[in-house]
Amino acid sequence: MLGLYLHIPFCSSICNYCNFNRGLYDEALKTRYVEALRCEIERAPHRLANPRAKADTIFFGGGTPSLLASADVAALIEACRRSFDLSPDAEITLETNPETVDRAALERFRAAGVNRISFGVQSFDDAELKRLGRIHSAARAEAAVREARGAGFDNVSLDLMMWLPGQSVARWLDNVHALIAASPDHASLYILELYPNAPLKEEMARAGLSLAPDEDAADMYLRAMDLLDRAGYVQYEISNVARPGRESRHNLKYWMDGEWLGFGCGAHSTYAGVRWRNVSSTEDYSRRVESDGDPAIERRALDRGTQLEEALFTGLRLTAGIDLSIVGARYNCDVWSRYGHDLQPFVDEGWLVREGPRLRLTRPGMLMANEVMAVFV
Ligand code: SF4
Repeated sequence: MLGLYLHIPFCSSICNYCNFNRGLYDEALKTRYVEALRCEIERAPHRLANPRAKADTIFFGGGTPSLLASADVAALIEACRRSFDLSPDAEITLETNPETVDRAALERFRAAGVNRISFGVQSFDDAELKRLGRIHSAARAEAAVREARGAGFDNVSLDLMMWLPGQSVARWLDNVHALIAASPDHASLYILELYPNAPLKEEMARAGLSLAPDEDAADMYLRAMDLLDRAGYVQYEISNVARPGRESRHNLKYWMDGEWLGFGCGAHSTYAGVRWRNVSSTEDYSRRVESDGDPAIERRALDRGTQLEEALFTGLRLTAGIDLSIVGARYNCDVWSRYGHDLQPFVDEGWLVREGPRLRLTRPGMLMANEVMAVFV
């Protein structure tokens, strides 16, 4: 089944490390954009020549989707329902920044049909949050999780970032303990990536802050995963853990060779062997949709070789790895004959394991994932 991704590019302030497709909230532009999004969704069945494609996930990502009014969210979910054969038990996620909601707002989102909340917490340390330009506090994040529970959400995810400027291993592990104490159903742990001109880089230089050495980053990752194991979470992807049954069904589509449609500015889609991307600018996107134009600016057919390589390197992100016989049958090739020579050294290092038809990364191998996956690209 399809996953539906809806991009909401508005934020209340801009974090100093962020290079996502986003801009400052503007009420008039937001109203215009939501209407364009609704139109793009409703035109999709016609453009895809598939009147009632089945879908079972909706993901509001951003940006800060929780800046939308609950009525906007309800209207967009309704547009998805009218345009697709949406499963009654569809997973409907709203990315949320803790400072944008209170208990009443969360209740309204729940009533609008959202059944999974993903909070961008990033850190439980106020000094770290300030350094990142985040405008919430640790206490607000903890309260927001409690409010989400009170509003009826039984599927709550938290994002944390590790290897922050000036962050020690011990400080990072305090964050992981705080996350476990908040008791989410799912958590994503990402390493901060500093893009070349990130304002955070200048602030680090001014404050004399640096990143901990690479060995510390590896230590942070392995010790965090160990703590999460002991707290009953199951790692199912390089950066993601969940209570059993609470894996992100939407994100699994990206890692399991699935299909998805992205709506909104800068959104990507992969469907029927074709990939396309919408124009990035919010204004340009709205204008194109309003004039009945196509917001997609790049469209390319994926050849079988590219599809095979993507299925391998995204599938290897999962702790379960990939079933070489299934992938081989799907793409009509013997995967190990084609790549085994280049992969065997990683097996010898203990980074990759072959178990029957399955090939998977070990946890230490996850630290070397880029090197392993380079075999496929
Ligand atoms: S809230 Fe998220 S999307 Fe918005 S600026 Fe900060 S990191 Fe970027």
